[in-house]
Amino acid sequence: MDDLYREVIIEHYKNPSYRGKLVPHDISFADNNPLCGDHIQIDLRVNKDGVVTEAMFDGHGCAISQASADLLMEFVIGKPLGEVKLLNKQDILDMLGIDLGPVRLKCALLSLKVLKAGVYGLGEAGDDLVE
Ligand code: ZN
Repeated sequence: MDDLYREVIIEHYKNPSYRGKLVPHDISFADNNPLCGDHIQIDLRVNKDGVVTEAMFDGHGCAISQASADLLMEFVIGKPLGEVKLLNKQDILDMLGIDLGPVRLKCALLSLKVLKAGVYGLGEAGDDLVE
């Protein structure tokens, strides 16, 4: 398993740039990946033009779940919500730069599910959000 963890993932896991909470925030959502025990909360600030100005995540879990959240926060800052809504599974895999089996894929996609459920104002984060 260890050879799957690229250095970039370990670095984002150990030294995340966007870990924390935004108070106040415009969008906040949280969910779990019960298969692995990962938990992610994402807070966003959005300006009047609908552009993400600040993004932070909080939570706990495996290296892939936490690193993908950190990479995703970095990516969405400065992006319009319309663009955030279009992010998909492949975008996350490109950020991580590794191939993942089905179990680890759920870890990697948790942050995107949480982000999109929050942006769409949904009450739950379904798998269909990340297809
Ligand atoms: Zn996990």
